Amino acid sequence: MHITCHGAAQVVTGSCHRVETDTFNFLIDCGMFQGDKDLNRKNYVPFEFDPKELDFMILTHGHIDHCGLIPKLVKHGFTGKIYTTPATADLLPIMLRDAAYIQEKDTEHENKRRARQELPPREPLYTLEDAEKVVPLITPLEYRTQLSMSESLGFVLQDAGHVIGSAIVELFITENGKHRKVVFSGDLGQKDVPIIEDPTAIKEADYVVVESTYGDRLHDKRLPREKQLMDIIKRTVARGGKVFIPSFALERTQELLYTLSELQSTHSDFPKVPIYLDSPLAIKITEVFKNHTELYDAEAKERKDNPFSFPNLKFTPETEDSKEISKSDAPAIVLAGSGMCTAGRIRHHIRHGIEKPQNTVLFVGYQSPGTLGRILLDGAKEIKMMGRVFDVKAEIQRIGGFSAHADQSGLTGWLQAYEPKPGKVFLVHGEEDTIEKFSKHLEALGFETDVPGLNIPVTVD
Ligand SMILES: [Zn+2]
Repeated sequence: MHITCHGAAQVVTGSCHRVETDTFNFLIDCGMFQGDKDLNRKNYVPFEFDPKELDFMILTHGHIDHCGLIPKLVKHGFTGKIYTTPATADLLPIMLRDAAYIQEKDTEHENKRRARQELPPREPLYTLEDAEKVVPLITPLEYRTQLSMSESLGFVLQDAGHVIGSAIVELFITENGKHRKVVFSGDLGQKDVPIIEDPTAIKEADYVVVESTYGDRLHDKRLPREKQLMDIIKRTVARGGKVFIPSFALERTQELLYTLSELQSTHSDFPKVPIYLDSPLAIKITEVFKNHTELYDAEAKERKDNPFSFPNLKFTPETEDSKEISKSDAPAIVLAGSGMCTAGRIRHHIRHGIEKPQNTVLFVGYQSPGTLGRILLDGAKEIKMMGRVFDVKAEIQRIGGFSAHADQSGLTGWLQAYEPKPGKVFLVHGEEDTIEKFSKHLEALGFETDVPGLNIPVTVD
């Protein structure tokens, strides 16, 4: 069998792995590259394979870097089923419609620029119409339920504890009378995060393809993330500022709301300021969370109050409401997308708020190189956006503990649960130097590792 990484090979985004066996040809994920211009350009390059020849695909979770190119796949002839968990099946149409809207808007904007330079207009990567064609192909499959495609191929989805509905894929393949088990980790979550379950420990496999986002790093656990969050909010509000949290609409936002509501009800000194969920996408996704309480962990199930509804939490789906938040000088907590500040309302909040020293921009997730989020996080003194240069006067903060990804110890622990060790561990979904360090770390522990290159098939037998 061959495994080819058509994305997330020595980068974090663009997850797309193709598996070819004697009888099947299928994808695990078909995600968008996200980051600087070079990465974005990769989304426009034709697929290295013929989408018409794929038998089906499996989707690990609803993040755009795992599902964002599915409409392009369908646009170019893919008609197979898309197997994913029921929660991801609910999320996928929401995520893809939003992505298509961004594609259409970005292209409109780009074409205005091109018209001024007398260049021909560009076609969007895909449209809302293409995204709608994905919906009938979505086929929900419950966790821990084996689906047999034939006598030679079956698979099971296990909880990856990364975002609601996220899955690890266990593949059972028979070729030439040999039985093989290959596990794709998808994105793996941290243990003990709010709301969702911990990642499932898998006991055995011949081969494992594992994500490496934070393979070289340990999340800061010196201070509990709740305490860090509370300190940042208290000092920002005390100086009359707003806390802007660029937040991924799926999971991070809901975990933050969960934590904020908990802090408020347990700490009388928590500032009583409005908390705005200023993201139409995150508002829709929060509804999906409300409908999938069966996926909550024991602690979330026990909670009597509703973590997604409390008096000072305000949902602002309308653009006008968002503008009001920007205009007001009153202290507030504002959660808005996108998570890496590449699009969405957070850019407007940054434009209005970055030059005010009383404000804070608080990062709670991975920032891809080249994104505005990464530039701010790397300490830029000024930023260029919307045709202007802005001085960075607001406080810039980061809390690593909210990451939806396991750190080095989490990933290592997950791999050490295999008994015996897998024949080989393929490292994907990490920046180049991270993967190198993670690989050395694992080799020192006795694992055999390999780093697949982009579009280069790896033979496993
Ligand atoms: Zn993810």
